[in-house]
Amino acid sequence: MKKILIAEIAQEVSTFNPVQTNYDAFQIHHNENLFDYHNRKPTQMGGAIKVLKKYFHIVPTIGARATSAGPMSEDCWEKISTEYLQNIKIHKENIDGIYLSLHGAMQGVSENDPEGWILKKTREIFGKSIPIVFSMDLHGILTKKMITYGDAFTSFHTYPHIDFFDTGKRAAELLRYMISGAKLTISRIRIPALVRGNELITETGCFGDQINKIKKLEETKQIISGGFHIGNPFTDVPELCSQIYFIYDKYHKKNNEEIKTIAEEFWNNRARMQSNLIDIGEAYKNSKVTEGTIIYTDAADAPSSGAAGDSNYIIKFLHQKKYNKKVLAPITDPALVQKAIDFGFDNEFIGQLGGYFDKRFKPYEMKFKVRFISDGDHIEESRNVKRNSGKTAVLISENFTIVCTSKPISLFDRSVFLGAGIDPKKYDLIVVKSPHCRPEFFDEWSQINLNIDAPGSTSANLHSLGHKICERPIYPLEENTKFDLLIEEKTI
Ligand SMILES: [Zn+2]
Repeated sequence: MKKILIAEIAQEVSTFNPVQTNYDAFQIHHNENLFDYHNRKPTQMGGAIKVLKKYFHIVPTIGARATSAGPMSEDCWEKISTEYLQNIKIHKENIDGIYLSLHGAMQGVSENDPEGWILKKTREIFGKSIPIVFSMDLHGILTKKMITYGDAFTSFHTYPHIDFFDTGKRAAELLRYMISGAKLTISRIRIPALVRGNELITETGCFGDQINKIKKLEETKQIISGGFHIGNPFTDVPELCSQIYFIYDKYHKKNNEEIKTIAEEFWNNRARMQSNLIDIGEAYKNSKVTEGTIIYTDAADAPSSGAAGDSNYIIKFLHQKKYNKKVLAPITDPALVQKAIDFGFDNEFIGQLGGYFDKRFKPYEMKFKVRFISDGDHIEESRNVKRNSGKTAVLISENFTIVCTSKPISLFDRSVFLGAGIDPKKYDLIVVKSPHCRPEFFDEWSQINLNIDAPGSTSANLHSLGHKICERPIYPLEENTKFDLLIEEKTI
C-alpha cells in the first residue's frame, strides 16, 4: 500500500496586532494524536483523512495550529519550522505522496512567507517525483513560492467557511489523481484589490457569483480544481492580493477566457466589496428604538482575523451612555481573569477592563461580580473540536455580562458563551467580534446586526491600518490602481 505523509501548519496573522505569537499559542499534535484529533472531524484534514484512508496507508507526522494573532516571534517560527522538518525528515525514504493542511495567511517577524518556506523545504527533502498537495483558506495568500514547490491545491469555496471537510477531501482526491500519474497545469491571475464586507458572503454577496462559476467548472469537469482567494487584508506581506487559479490536466481544454472573465467581474465589483461601517453614535440611536436582540459587530477586534480580542471600545461606549438593557460581550484580558479568580466566585471587585495587549485601548474601570470561573475548555460550535480559551471568568457589572478569557480565541460562533453556560438569546445587545458568522449563530434570530466602525488591528477601514509591506498600488489603498490582466502558468 502506498504511503501518504500528512501534516498541518496553520495560523492567520494580523500584522497590525502588536502581540507576537509565541510557540505556546500553538496546539501541537504528533503522529497518531494528529490522526485522532482530525479523524471523523469536520476539518480540512478530517476530510483528507476520509479519502486517503480508503486507498493509502496514512503517515501522520505533525500538526501545529494557533488561533489568529500577531506575527510569529522569531523564536516561535524557529521552533515550529525546526519541529516540522524534524518530524517529516524521518520519513524521507518511505513516502509516495504528501498532503498538507494549511491556512495560507501566516507571517513571522522574520519570515513573510512561512507556507512557501514549508513547501520549499518539503520539496527539497522529498524530491521532485513525490506529489505535494495542500489545501487552504480562501483568505490565504497563495505565493509564487507555494505554487513553485507545491504541485496542486484546493481552497474553501465558502465564506463564512463551512466547507473545511470538503476542501480537504478535494485535496486528497487531487493527490490520488497525481499519484496515478496525472500531469497538471496551473493558471492564475493576480488582482491588485483588497476587499471586505457583506458582499463577500458567498451565499448572498456578489463574490458568490465568482465562486459559483468556479464550482460549476469543477462539477462539470472543465477544470480539476479552482479557487478564488481574497487574501487576508490584515496580513501585510509582499504578495498580498486577490487572485484566481485554475488547475487542468491534459484532458481539459485550457479555459483562459473563463478565468479572465471571472477575474474581470471581481475587479469590476471591487468598490461594492468594501465594508459598510456605521459610527457607534449612529448605531446607538437605532439601538434605543429597536426591539429584540441587537448585534454590534466589532470586526476591528476579531481574533479569528488576527486581533488580540481586548478592545473595550463598545463596552465603554455603552457603559458611559448608561445603556440599561442586557448586554453580552466577550473580551480577552488575562489580568482581569486572574483578579476574578483571586476574589473568587460571587465576590465583587473593582477592575480594569481591556487594553491588556493592544495599547490603542485604555483599560476601563468597572465594578464586577464574579459569576463563573472555568479552565476554559469547551467545544467549538462550528467544527465540534475541543478548544481552550485559557482560564475564563464571567463577570457581571449591572446590566453587562462579560465573558473574559485569558487567551484570544476565534469568536465566529457562540462557543465561548455556550461554554460558560450562557444563552445569547436572553440578551438585548451582543458584541460579536467576528466580521461574519454563519446565519444560524446570530443573524437568523436577532433583529439587526450593525457593523461598528471601531478602532482595531483588523478594522475593515483598511486605510486606518498602515500597510507597509504589500506590493503597491493596491485598491482601495490607492483608489486609482490599474489592473493588468495577466495569466501566469506553471506546468508540472
Ligand atoms: Zn478565512
